[in-house]
Order: sequence, then C-alpha cells, then structure tokens
Amino acid sequence: MKDLSACTTRSTCPYCGVGCGVLLQPDGAGGLTVTGDPDHPANQGRLCSKGSALAETVGLSQRLLAPVVAGEETGWDDALQLVADRFRDTIAEHGPDSVAFYVSGQLLTEDYYVANKLMKGFIGSANIDTNSRLCMASTVAGHKRAFGTDTVPGTYEDLDEADLVVLVGSNLAWCHPVLYQRLMAARQARGTRIIVIDPRRTASCDSADLHLPLAAGSDVALFNHLLTQIDAGGLVDADFLTHTTGIHEALDSALADDVSVTGLDTDDIAQFCQMWMETEKVVTIFSQGVNQSSAGSDKVNAILNCHLATGRIGKPGCGPLSVTGQPNAMGGREVGGLANMLACHLDIENADHRAAVRDFWSAPAMPEAPGLKAVDLFRAVGDGRVKALWVIHTNPVVSMPEADAVRDAIAACPFTVVSDITALTDTARLADVLLPAAAWAEKDGTVTNSDRTISRQRSVLPAPGQARADWDILAEVGRRMGWASAFDYQTPGEIFREYATLSGIAAKFGRDFDISGLSDLDAVGYDALQPTRWPVTATRQGGRFFADGQFYHPDGKARLLPVTWRAPAAKTEPRYPFWLNTGRLRDQWHTMTRTGLSARLSAHLPEPFLDIHPDDARATGINPADLVQVASPHGTSVLRARITSDVTQGQVFAPIHWTGETAPAARIDAVVAAATDPVSGQPESKASVVSVTRFDAKWYGFAVSDREMRPSCEYWAQTPTKLGYRAELAGMDTIDDWQTAARDLFGLPEAQITIVEDPARGMARLAFYEDGRLVAALFISPEPVAVMRDYLATLPQVPDLLSGWAPADRPDPGPVLCSCFDVGVNTILTAIETKGLMTVEAIGEALQAGTNCGSCRPELASLLASAHQKEAAQ
Ligand code: SF4
Repeated sequence: MKDLSACTTRSTCPYCGVGCGVLLQPDGAGGLTVTGDPDHPANQGRLCSKGSALAETVGLSQRLLAPVVAGEETGWDDALQLVADRFRDTIAEHGPDSVAFYVSGQLLTEDYYVANKLMKGFIGSANIDTNSRLCMASTVAGHKRAFGTDTVPGTYEDLDEADLVVLVGSNLAWCHPVLYQRLMAARQARGTRIIVIDPRRTASCDSADLHLPLAAGSDVALFNHLLTQIDAGGLVDADFLTHTTGIHEALDSALADDVSVTGLDTDDIAQFCQMWMETEKVVTIFSQGVNQSSAGSDKVNAILNCHLATGRIGKPGCGPLSVTGQPNAMGGREVGGLANMLACHLDIENADHRAAVRDFWSAPAMPEAPGLKAVDLFRAVGDGRVKALWVIHTNPVVSMPEADAVRDAIAACPFTVVSDITALTDTARLADVLLPAAAWAEKDGTVTNSDRTISRQRSVLPAPGQARADWDILAEVGRRMGWASAFDYQTPGEIFREYATLSGIAAKFGRDFDISGLSDLDAVGYDALQPTRWPVTATRQGGRFFADGQFYHPDGKARLLPVTWRAPAAKTEPRYPFWLNTGRLRDQWHTMTRTGLSARLSAHLPEPFLDIHPDDARATGINPADLVQVASPHGTSVLRARITSDVTQGQVFAPIHWTGETAPAARIDAVVAAATDPVSGQPESKASVVSVTRFDAKWYGFAVSDREMRPSCEYWAQTPTKLGYRAELAGMDTIDDWQTAARDLFGLPEAQITIVEDPARGMARLAFYEDGRLVAALFISPEPVAVMRDYLATLPQVPDLLSGWAPADRPDPGPVLCSCFDVGVNTILTAIETKGLMTVEAIGEALQAGTNCGSCRPELASLLASAHQKEAAQ
C-alpha cells in the first residue's frame, strides 16, 4: 500500500456493490479530485463513469442544510425532540409495531447498526427494512436455505481464474462496470468464455460467447435442466455430496420441469449445458434479474444446486457470486438491516440468539418475530397500522412498486420523518420533518462490498450547514427517547467496535460472520483500517467459504433445494399483452439525486424511454421517437419509444431512474405490480403485465435554457447540460400563444424573443436573448420534434439557430457515448467512416473515447459492428 500525500484520503465509491476504492483530494474550496485507488483490491485503480464523475456531485446545489418541520426551518433541538416525542407517544398509544424505519443500502454499517439497535432492541419492533429488500433479499433467502447462512462463497479474484463466467440476470457491463472490466482483462489474458442469460440483449452481450434470451422468469427451468444434464453426464461430485443433503429431491423436481418454457433454441440450451459441464472453473454471477423476481429465491437455489452438485464452490475460479446493487447492501445484511434478521447473521426467531443480543445490548424489548418487509411495510402505512415512519436516504415514492399507492400511503401517514441530503425528492416533499444528513464525502464509517471486503469510507469535506451523520441523528433520538447510555456514542469507531464484539458472540453460536478480530481497534486503528475481507478472527482472515464442505445448517451440511419453475404474473387480460422489465442505466444511479447533478453523466441517455420490439411497435402503431403510455392496473407512465430488437417480442424495457423532480409522468414504478417472492419478500421488477399505446399529444416540444425550467405540461423530462438544462415537452391542450406558454407553462426566461411560427402546421420556434446573447430556445411541432438536440444544448450563438440544425462546419456530436471525454455517437461514426477505424482501440487512439474508465467500450464495440455491417451491406 503506497503512502499518500498529506492531502489525499482513501475512501470508497458510494454507488454500487463493487465497492471501488477512491483517492480523494479536497481543493480547499468545497470541491474534490477523485481518482481510483490503485491499492484497493476491488478495483486496483479502475473507476467507471459514475465513479469518475463523483467530484461533480459534491456541490451544495440542492442540499438540505437545516432541519425542517412542517415546511419551516428549525434547529436540531426542536426537530429531534419532536421526532422522539412523536415516536414515543405513538408507541405508548398503539404499541411498538405502529412505528417503522425504512432505510437504505446507502447507509454506512455504523448508521445501520444504530438504526437496527434502536428499533429491534429498544423500541421493541422488527419494523425496520431497507431498500436492499428491492435489491438482493432473494439472494439472502437462497443462501440461507442452501448454506444455513447468508454467505457469499467466492471472491472477485475468482473472476481472474475462471475459465467460464455465466452472467445470469446481470448486465455487468453497465451495473458493475469495474467488475466487467476485470472480466474483460481476464478474457484477454486467458480466454475466459462468457455466457449471458438475460431476456434482453444488453451491453454485456457484446463480448459473450453465447447469449440466451430466455423467457422472463424461466431461469429455474433452465438451471433445473442443467442439473439433470449434470446428473445424466455423471458429473455429480459424490465426495462433495457427502457434505450436502437433498440431491434426490432436487433432481426429482428438476426432472419434472420442462426446459421448453424458457423459449430457447434447443441447440443453445445444449451448448450452455455443454460449456458449463465441461468447465471445472465456472463462476455464475447473478444479480437483479435473478433477485427481483416473484420466484427469486428459487432462482438462486436452482443456481446453487448446480454448484453444490458438482462441488464447484468456494474453490479458486469457481462458485456462485451474487453482486449487489448498492454500496453497502452487504453491510446491511450483516448488521441486521432487514426486518427478518438480527445483527451478525443471528436469527430473530431463535430464542437463544435473541437472548444473546438482548443481554449484549441490555435491551429492554426484543421482538420475537420478523417485522414488515418493504412491500408489506408500506401497505401497513397505507392501512393505518404504521402511524409513524422514518425514511432514511431513500425515495420509496419513486422506487417502490405500485409507487402511486406508496405515495398516497406516505402522504396520509400521521407522522413521517425523512433524513436525506436534499429536500428535492418525491418522498422528502411528503415529510412532516426533514432532517439534513451528511453526504458521502462528509461521512465516516465502513461499508462491505459484494465479496465481503470491508472498506473505510472517510470524511474529507465538512458537513455543510447543520447536516449531521446518520448514526449521530439516530443515536440522539435514542437518547431523547430515554435510552441515554445505550446510545451514548461519540464516534463511528465506537459503534464499529461494539458491532465487532457482538460478532464474536454470534460466532459462539456457530455463525460465520465474525469480525471479532477487529473489536479492539482503537481510534487510530479504525482510522487506518485497510480493506479487509471477513471473517477476521484470531485464527482466520478472509478467504473463501465452503470448499472444505463445512456449512452452517445445524448438521453442518448444505441443502440442495427442490425448486420448480413458476411463471411470473400471467398475461391473463388481453388488454395487458406485454411484460415490463425495468433496470438501471450505465451512467445513472437510483433516483438520480447525485448522478443527476452531473451534466456529462446526464448526457448519455437524457430522457426516460421504453424499448419495444419492431414487430410489437408495428402492431401497436408506434413509430420511432413517439411518446408511449405504459399502463397497468396500478398506474401509468409516459416514455419515449425506442424500437429495438434488444428486447424480444412481448417484452418491453424501461429504466428506473426518473422521478417527479425530473420527469413526473415517467415514474415507471407506478406501473410495476407489488408481486413478491413468498420467501424473500422481494418484489418482481422484471415482469409486470402492462399495455403500451401511443401517447397522442397535441404538440411536442424541445427546449434548452441556461437556467432551470419549471415545466407544467402533461409530459416533460428535464436534464442538466454543461450550460444549463434541456427539456422534452408534450401536451394535450391546444396552445395559441407560444410566447406566453414559454413563460407560464415551461418556465423559460422572460427575455427578448425571436419567433418563427406556422400556426396552420402547428409549428413554432422561439429564441430568447438577453443583451443580444442567446439564453434559451424552444422548438414546437405537432410531431415529435426533429432537431439536433446535442448541438442546440450548447446554446450556439449563431444567426440561423431556429433551423435547429448544425451548420456544416459545426457538426452535431450526437448523444454522448463516452462521458469521460464527452464524445458523441455522431463524432464516433464519422471517425469510423472517414478514418477507416476497425477496432475499439483505434477509436480510442483517434478520439480518446473508451480510454479512461472503459464503461463505454461495449457500446463502442457495438457501434463499430453496426457501422461495419451497414458498410458491408452497401
Ligand atoms: S463500479 Fe463504478 S459505481 Fe461501482 S463502485 Fe466502482 S466506480 Fe463506483
């Protein structure tokens, strides 16, 4: 580990579960320089586009700087006393289960620990759940059923040694880009083969040897078939099976399943089985496509069954590897952030475990049963069983399924507290009390990534205004509720030591999560803690689990589970003929409260969209760039149509990121049904039944401005640019006076206006000038507006601006593809054509694109392939 200069601090990226190390250098003026930490084992210096843009998200715009009660700024004393009083009074009147916390995988482990201790040990309810319920609860359930514990067996190093990597329901190239780059490096070095199993063709398919676009939710049938082939091929590892039970039951179930429900070509299925069976070193990476399913737990166990049957687990280069979406989803799992767990992998239903934790905490009231999981929790808010709710660092009004019902439930809740870094979220707008929390670069604590590595997140910027750390806010409420000594924490290091000590007690019950070797870290040791993979005990540090055949069920054996394919929600009503799949984009994170602040991240895909197959588009009369309305029994969402064979017929795909703040009509989770996995409680986000129809607006608009707009028409989507903002607009009412509408309906500046109009054709083009300088422009059309958006977003000071087209000497760069170097699609296509570029590396040499974080390399490869295909066809 290299020494750093005095002004450089090691920390961790706050976005995804890869858990990349970063080096932070404050500039002394509130800003930062962020680079990858070459010494961090997760990323060895690499960062993806989101991590590379972290410095652009630490400014104070949109920050919540003081507590707010009933819309009025106030001091901490009043706000926290109100929170403590209302929670205490509600509990006194209605019992402990009348209150709930809904927290987040964005919390640090120390924050999580205090929240969990307050709710489960002192309030006496288990009604604390986390948005990680939406992320990987099915993996937790699958791991526990198979291993007797929620343990990720392998490590990232396995990717360096594997000969075959199978990505199941994982667009690793976009959602865990640094791991994907690691896989690409291994492929380059040793020819690692890759199979992608995903209903959708994603960026991860570009380097795959085989893509299996299976029917939504049919993963269990595919892996059951693999298990039968493993058995038929004599590949069951008889020695390893002595460490397991259930092979016969699992095989019986597998044989009863019908692989044809996957809809896959039989040759492709055979090739998949052949590749898997002939390769000893196989890693199966699975993510949200497996977890976010009403059969998620069974999918996980179907995968684990194959690894257990062959003994391909916990050894170098082989095993199942779940990758989490959030930076500290794993920390939340370990510390008891889910409603059905105690801390340190102890079980809430186990009386001995409960007693041990109660004694350790000197807790007055421990719940004996699991609390409400996320979907049920918000239903309980809606029907009045939960009367006081505290939401911490998450935005359920956007991210929960049946989001409109969640919005209505929170709006009607008698008392809602929201802790966040901004008041500008759909959920924060409904809060009775808003508490200003410290943000990523201001927080101190630990996180655990997807391969069990605990890393320090270190504070390098002062918390602005009155913002405070979450553990500090929670502890203060605990003290004000009457538990002064239990919550008398002064530093996150104290909390970590207490947690590590508790893990030693858990280990005495035979639990695997044991970091008791860190329980005597002093303040200096905590501050200097290096990335450390658990367990950490006097005799062991890190490594893989289970290769020795030692599992955590009472008999020490693993379980192969009999699982059977179940269809996701059936398309029983003809008016809902599509399955809606939702997911993440390369350059955005969650509900964009941070990545949405970066103009270059926002330039990649600036508008919410729906991918629909060409045949389905034809059948429904949808043309490219039309607006479409997606509807289900739960709500509607309006999105821009992208017609593409990346999705199969009968399926559509939409990203999850847009909110009431950025595109109010496009909140996709308003449409998603809250169907949950019966074991994990995780909602199905990949297969809701929906209809898709053209959204026939009276008019369509595109606007750019040097300042934020405030549109109030039926459809709008606004995103930042380097010089201001751009917005897509559409409306249902006839408008005669566009100059007035520009001001009153879209929030464009009051300025000197040049207008070109053709009322008969419904066309209008307006340019707005201040002191002769262009500050905004508006283009209106009865059809989706056809102008060069990326060129116009530069607010070009040219006389023929209202043509909407770039002059020949100033070409339109097109949508940004490489966000590190701001290189657009048109620029790349022109270079491919004019310079005869043949490889991604050649594009890099010519334009720099793809040479920094590498996140765009799959898209560059795809663009290159389609350009060459087009050329060959001519
Ligand atoms: S892969 Fe990207 S988003 Fe994930 S931790 Fe690393 S830099 Fe952050």
